[in-house]
Amino acid sequence: MARLNWGMIGGGEGSQIGPAHRISAGLDGKFNFAASALDIDAAKGKAFAQTLGIEGDRAYGDWREMLAGEKDRADRVDLVTIATPNSTHFEIAKAFTEEGFHVLCEKPMTMTVAEAEELVKLAEAKGTILAVNYGYSGYSLVRHMRAMVARGDLGKVRLIKAEFAHGFHADEADADNPRVRWRYDPDLAGVSAQFADCGIHALHMASYVSGQEAETLSADFASGIPSRTLEDDAMLNIKMSGGARCRLWTSSIAIGRMHGLNIQVFGERGGLRWAQEQPNQLFWTPLNGRTEIIERGAGNLSPEADRASRVTIGHAEGMPLAFANIYLDLAEAISAHKHGRTADSAATQYPKAIDGLRSMAAIVAAVDSAKQQGVWVDARPPMLR
Ligand code: NAD
Repeated sequence: MARLNWGMIGGGEGSQIGPAHRISAGLDGKFNFAASALDIDAAKGKAFAQTLGIEGDRAYGDWREMLAGEKDRADRVDLVTIATPNSTHFEIAKAFTEEGFHVLCEKPMTMTVAEAEELVKLAEAKGTILAVNYGYSGYSLVRHMRAMVARGDLGKVRLIKAEFAHGFHADEADADNPRVRWRYDPDLAGVSAQFADCGIHALHMASYVSGQEAETLSADFASGIPSRTLEDDAMLNIKMSGGARCRLWTSSIAIGRMHGLNIQVFGERGGLRWAQEQPNQLFWTPLNGRTEIIERGAGNLSPEADRASRVTIGHAEGMPLAFANIYLDLAEAISAHKHGRTADSAATQYPKAIDGLRSMAAIVAAVDSAKQQGVWVDARPPMLR
């Protein structure tokens, strides 16, 4: 497979998620980092791009300049990653999709459900790939959980417990720090803070692993720091499409919790438990049986898990390698698209625009429910009802 050209918007020097994308996209030799508009400060973005090896004429000052410069090149970028703040995702994703580029957009995909529906329809009409970076779905053992559920090891899934809790916004004395405050300001963050930022990763994972989508939900939102307009803690009960209940907790005031993205799936014939901070072990307990530890890299787990595992058993694989699996899938999907062939079916596991849309609908539904003291509301996007 010839190397594909890759471009990045946002993720400039000092950004939180930019380095993870660059490590991941570069890991398997599938992408050549060819063009960028990395920073809100044009000069800073151009200078940083050149330290990363981007040629001067493709180190753009902003995304509009990048679109104009790339769209008619014979060697234009094959994939554009959008890693800017949330409020810019829609217009950038729309503009690049309209010009026929494949896009990987950071979450949340948009600020509203209507925008998300528009993007889903646009990508479909253009026949381009629009993926959303629920990157934790790239972990080998997450893919193994999904395979175990799909092949029936658990029987019917009855219950899912999903969490994403950290404690890094718990200091009331620091609540006015500009780096923290904007996240709880509706003008900058949107309708939800903690659920939209972290809770949707937990919800995406619940759906990804179980194969069931959120249908209706009841939410309780709390602001542990009372000056906050938006929630810093949320608890949701969700009725899933296959009949399971999902109990979901997310928090940013849980002192002592680090990056607590945890999932448990309970079926008729057994239960699974996995935690992102120990991603190389999966705990499986068959009904009436003993708990078994499944190690990442153990031979012949499932084709999905084996494809997503790189180093041998016993060596830790972490978050950038999970993101790298999203890029590996995209490289295969884009290459197949380019050459008019069918993509390897194992490479279709990356999160798509439809998942970004479902998340947006769940965010709006949760806000709606929380405002009405937890009344059950429809969590599906209008176009999927
Ligand atoms: P950040 O504030 O640390 O960095 C944002 C970067 O984008 C900066 O370099 C900034 O200069 C640049 N930027 C801002 N506006 C721009 C524009 N118009 N054009 C070009 N560059 C621009 O933010 P972050 O924490 O890295 O988050 C970025 C996105 O990634 C957010 O949408 C966030 O939700 C998402 N994110 C996802 C994950 C994940 O696990 N998938 C984790 C963290 C963040």
